[in-house]
Amino acid sequence: MARQIYSIVIPIYNEEENITEMYRRLSSVMDRLDGEAELILIDDGSRDRSLNMIRELHHHDSRVHYLSFARNFGHQIAVTAGLNFVQGKVAVVMDADLQDPPELIFDMIGKWRQGYQVVYAQRLSRKKEGWFKRFTAYAFYRIFRRLADVDIPSDTGDFCLMDRQVVDVLNTMPERNRYIRGLRAWVGFRQTAIHFERDPRFAGEVKYTFGKSWALAVDGIISLSKVPLRVATYLGLLSAAIAILMIFLVLYWRFFDPASPLIGYSLITIAVFFIGSVQLVSIGILGEYIGRIYEEVKGRPIYTLKETGGVIKSSEIKY
Ligand code: UDP
Ligand code: MG
Repeated sequence: MARQIYSIVIPIYNEEENITEMYRRLSSVMDRLDGEAELILIDDGSRDRSLNMIRELHHHDSRVHYLSFARNFGHQIAVTAGLNFVQGKVAVVMDADLQDPPELIFDMIGKWRQGYQVVYAQRLSRKKEGWFKRFTAYAFYRIFRRLADVDIPSDTGDFCLMDRQVVDVLNTMPERNRYIRGLRAWVGFRQTAIHFERDPRFAGEVKYTFGKSWALAVDGIISLSKVPLRVATYLGLLSAAIAILMIFLVLYWRFFDPASPLIGYSLITIAVFFIGSVQLVSIGILGEYIGRIYEEVKGRPIYTLKETGGVIKSSEIKY
């Protein structure tokens, strides 16, 4: 079998309105590439016609391969699965909704030819997104960079090109809590950015609800940082300091201002609530880590496949 040089990985969840246009733009890009290309589509348990459309593409274009999950596992897991089956020397990860312009692949390949092993796309602005999304994204990246062990460039998503060597490393990382852009930064290698304006979605609704984005943000921080565990200790120290302060306050009132209305139940109530909440927050933070340890220890497969077309496990491909 001919060895593909370029592999393009696209996770798909209920994208029936986008698949045709996505394929049209991508196949024209693939035609113009200076080597062979394959398109790996991962159906993340779609409930609309997406899988049928993917099967049809696979039948009429031999460059299109696909995986289909037995249920919805989420975007990051879908990308992980795609990378497990990449045959090319280079893998490009992008979304199905054409927010990531396929034509940028040429620039990415140009950087790769210069010797970069990871080329990630960085958004110039989020003009076309609402203020809430813009604000939360801004805040998240700033907080993240303070907490995480690795430096993740801000305003980057999963749209990127990775050399085979990087993909192989990612594929050997066993963790199921996968925050791809974090792992991608963690592995190292020669990395560079290219800048672009992110287009609005071509059609259909955003699949990342606020809940999913929140979960992704928490996963990202927990998987790359132990700082929150320390925060629990700091909160404990803070509450101890406040308790000591209150002892002195009470002594002061006792001797100099016995009529102060602050002595008594209100003070006790505040103290009880304060210590209670510090403890609950700390247990919550611990729980986030322990829950993930539990997930890892169970050692279940990261995803379950119900159907595939034309794919080979990338560990079986030798260059
Ligand atoms: N997606 C997925 N599984 C999910 C949610 C999303 O595979 O559970 C895919 C989706 O089809 C799209 C990409 O992930 O190709 C990004 O999703 P979306 O456009 O909704 O997110 P955003 O553009 O806000 O990052
Ligand atoms: Mg999108």
